[in-house]
Amino acid sequence: VKKSGGGNYRIYEETMERANSYRFGLQSDFKRALHDEEFYLVYQPKVNANTGSISGVEALLRWNKNNQELIPPADFIPLAEETGFIVPLGEWVIKRACEQNKQWQDAGFTPIRIAVNVSAVQFQRSKMDEIVERILAETGLEPQWLEIEITEGTLMVQDEFTIRSITRLKELGVIIALDDFGTGYSSMQYLKQFRLHSLKVDRSFIQDLHEHHDRAAITEAITQLAHGLGMSVVAEGVEKDEELEFVKSIGADEIQGYYISRPLSKEDFESYLQSDSKV
Ligand code: C2E
Ligand code: CA
Ligand code: CA
Ligand code: CA
Repeated sequence: VKKSGGGNYRIYEETMERANSYRFGLQSDFKRALHDEEFYLVYQPKVNANTGSISGVEALLRWNKNNQELIPPADFIPLAEETGFIVPLGEWVIKRACEQNKQWQDAGFTPIRIAVNVSAVQFQRSKMDEIVERILAETGLEPQWLEIEITEGTLMVQDEFTIRSITRLKELGVIIALDDFGTGYSSMQYLKQFRLHSLKVDRSFIQDLHEHHDRAAITEAITQLAHGLGMSVVAEGVEKDEELEFVKSIGADEIQGYYISRPLSKEDFESYLQSDSKV
């Protein structure tokens, strides 16, 4: 019976090799998938809390792998970040979203903001401000109709590169929102330093807040803080009547979640826009 550390080492090596070739395989998979148009966007409305009419839309990425398996973003975005593929993929997302929003405007729909998610890795690995400026010029979309959702992780990095990109994006006239607020290293310092346009209260605080006093208290405090700093508040992940009533009662500005609508295909979102404008 072999009982040496060498055996363990070999297992370790084999595991690493498999992990590496898995990664390498994924990287070429990603490239092929982008080329074969397996990525697409779905669109989730945000509505004005008082009127219920549409105020914006968030573009969410989907991967229909080999046209047979739908992979959720939570599964492939971390890998795309690790391999660096998030840079070309993220650029594709912004381009596609801007192009689409411009098409909707040209078709005569009431203009709305389109939001895209940009991760900390994207800010660190590419010149986001230059990419966005170029895409706006190429698509002809005016900057106020584009919103970028960043996370606390992006602000926490505090490298010159990221700070300059965010500052320049704001100067361009692009709207910046802080996503998943309350789940990361929420720092009042960042809110003061960056003066972002809006703040999205994370779904984990909204979920069943009528049954959890702590969640309701946090949601209310975050809303007051944001308003005090001149930011608007989006309640995300609203699914139930009670959640909606509570976030409205404390003055949240916008609502997003399954209660309003799930993320929709381009076609279904266009029907949504059409019925919305008739109200
Ligand atoms: P997120 O930015 O916080 O997006 C909200 C997520 O919650 C979406 O999941 C959305 O479908 C889901 N959601 C919305 N309303 C409800 C609700 O009422 N209940 C529940 N249970 N869920 C709700 P999705 O589309 O699977 O995206 C997951 C995450 O993947 C996103 O979280 C975002 O962090 C990331 N992601 C998606 N698209 C992109 C992208 O293009 N680029 C980057 N960097 N990240 C992306
Ligand atoms: Ca988001
Ligand atoms: Ca979020
Ligand atoms: Ca999230």
